[in-house]
Amino acid sequence: MESNLETDLKDSLKRVFGYDKFRGKQKDITHHLLNKNDTFVIMPTGAGKSLCYQLPAIVQNGTAIVISPLIALMKNQVDQMNAVGINAKFLNSTLSRSESKRVKRDTKAGLVKLLYVAPESLAKEENIAFLKESKISFAAVDEAHCISEWGHDFRPEYRKIKEVISQLGNIPIIALTATATPKVQMDIQKNLSMDSARLFKSSFNRVNLYYEVRSKKDAKKQLIKFIKSHHNESGIIYCLSRKKVEELAEFLKVNDIKAVAYHAGMEAKERMKNQDAFLNENIDVVVATIAFGMGIDKPDVRFVIHYDAPKSIEGYYQETGRAGRDGIDSHCLMFYSNKDILRFEKLNRDKTITERENARFLLEEVASYAESSICRRKQLLHYFGEAFKEDNCGQCDNCVLPKEQFEGKDVIEIVIQTVKQTNERFYPDHLASLIVGKSTRYAKSYGHDKLPIFGKGKDIDSDEDFWKSVIRQTLLHEFLKKDLENPAIYLVSEKGEKFLEDPYFHELSKDHDYASEGEEEDGDRVPVNVAAHDKLLFGMLKALTKDIARREKIPPYMIFSDPSMEEMATLYPTSMDDLKQIVGIGETKAKKFGEPFLKLIEEYVEENDIATVSDVLVKSSGTKSKNKIYIIKHIDQKIDLKEIAEARNMTYEELVEEMENICYSGTKLNIDYYIDQLLDDDSQDDIHDYFLSAESDNLEIALKELGEYTDEEVRLMRIKIMSEYAH
Ligand code: ADP
Ligand code: MG
Ligand code: ZN
Repeated sequence: MESNLETDLKDSLKRVFGYDKFRGKQKDITHHLLNKNDTFVIMPTGAGKSLCYQLPAIVQNGTAIVISPLIALMKNQVDQMNAVGINAKFLNSTLSRSESKRVKRDTKAGLVKLLYVAPESLAKEENIAFLKESKISFAAVDEAHCISEWGHDFRPEYRKIKEVISQLGNIPIIALTATATPKVQMDIQKNLSMDSARLFKSSFNRVNLYYEVRSKKDAKKQLIKFIKSHHNESGIIYCLSRKKVEELAEFLKVNDIKAVAYHAGMEAKERMKNQDAFLNENIDVVVATIAFGMGIDKPDVRFVIHYDAPKSIEGYYQETGRAGRDGIDSHCLMFYSNKDILRFEKLNRDKTITERENARFLLEEVASYAESSICRRKQLLHYFGEAFKEDNCGQCDNCVLPKEQFEGKDVIEIVIQTVKQTNERFYPDHLASLIVGKSTRYAKSYGHDKLPIFGKGKDIDSDEDFWKSVIRQTLLHEFLKKDLENPAIYLVSEKGEKFLEDPYFHELSKDHDYASEGEEEDGDRVPVNVAAHDKLLFGMLKALTKDIARREKIPPYMIFSDPSMEEMATLYPTSMDDLKQIVGIGETKAKKFGEPFLKLIEEYVEENDIATVSDVLVKSSGTKSKNKIYIIKHIDQKIDLKEIAEARNMTYEELVEEMENICYSGTKLNIDYYIDQLLDDDSQDDIHDYFLSAESDNLEIALKELGEYTDEEVRLMRIKIMSEYAH
């Protein structure tokens, strides 16, 4: 029978699927399941898990039940099977009564090889009854990680699967997932009572993927550069929100990149159109929310960019996994800013405490992945319970450009001791605060301030972040291990115990410091680095503003501000259009004051033989201008500022900032109606007089000089004055 089965399988593999060979462990898995054994498959996305249950279903009698979470995925597989002459059906809420009756009749008659059901349908009494009357060959639980709350896509109905299946007799189960964290793995085995199932796990190492994390500073400019250096290649860019997706797609188009947007809020037709355009290579780049990519099988995606940080390492791995399926080198780039992490935390506010804690833990993993300068590949694989033994993978930014190393013997020892002395029960944050000797109420309540390690690391480094990084590295180097029940808690490993007995030299590396490298500017416009601006030209521009100011009898900063002139002295604008691209300069202002400045710059450029760099300016897509227009219009209608902010989903501070931008680039804003409620006439005069005689419009100086006024009052007055005089 063995050899018969062998040829049968090979034959079906070729006939039904068109493949000559099994991939990875597919053959062993198939055999194991056909021998009626429980089987647990962990393979990365795209490895070919479906075949592991489709093929066994086809070659034996009876019907295999396939439990799958998404109707779209079900339909897709059923269509594929039917197309090659295999009788596959699905049973879910989209079927009419008569349709589902027919499916049941055919199944009972033994005609259906694969019956796809959603977990919700499986649990229905009427369905259990009919399944009992059918001959079931085995049950497959696809995307089995949905059983676990730990991770993503949790579906409570998945918890009932085992109960239903056990009513159908003694049939084997095959569970499949691409999520391999030990915790999720344990949850799956426990919930499906398949502790003794054989585990088939393939490596998660995608050797042809290059991993890189960059600071989000100047992200837009970096993005354009990156994509232009991958000319004619396919790529996916993931963003957090639908709004961002649309903005960014627009921005890329303006910069001559063939891009489309894709997100769940779009019309299905438009979405399909965009997806097809990508698959057919009519366009190069899809900007998408994570809704994009499931079931998409484009082999030659050359880059995947996370414009916003991902929500979890699992998600990150899945999404980057869509690059380089053809085995050719591909690039995975993440833009990272700690702001993204904070933004997520805000989004999670409405969840239950457990959900929120889980989400927070997953996010922390993302943050430490990004900030750590340990091999990215090692970190990713460690997350999935796989040890990557090499020190340098040669295929990630941290290996190609290593950060400074330092001798870690003492600090590792302190960390392990701290874990031990606190009885392996506390989160890394707390451990770090103990090491630097922070005497919190929480620490006191456990008597932790009395422990020998309390404050022991303060002289080495008093920064908790330093210690968090060391704790993290101590884990990655396996001196600690995660608690299976609660992966946010670390235990001392055997290697750690040995280390304590006889400590030895061990190098650690310093974290990246993305915070001090700055963060993304929120505007559409890519900020220009003015650090090296032309001091001589700047001085000349400044003198010119003074001349004009004297003539016009207004303070010089009302003509052009220092930041505007620094940019001019960096970019050398010589046309009206170029000038309007400079920060703080809009149409009106350019027209009103621009001419003599352009003349000056032109002469200067000619005299000094400077090439003008107008092409450095990345064009903006003007999405922000929608906000601008809205604000101008509603201020005209004397709408309350707080209402305007709310309507645009901005904070009040953001609105005031935007108003400053508007007015500094030359559009008048008449906010008397608002200021009059805020300040009496005397106070207004007070601030007014100050600004007209001040050297600069600097806010801090103004607040100090003026004394009794709030930030808001001074800023609004400044807008009023700029509007009156500078336009
Ligand atoms: P997973 O569910 O693991 O993400 P799929 O089952 O969707 O992966 O398969 C991914 C791709 O691999 C599909 O395009 C499939 O046709 C292909 N594939 C699966 N098995 C083989 C094989 N033995 N030889 C060649 N291609 C295969
Ligand atoms: Mg699959
Ligand atoms: Zn590496």
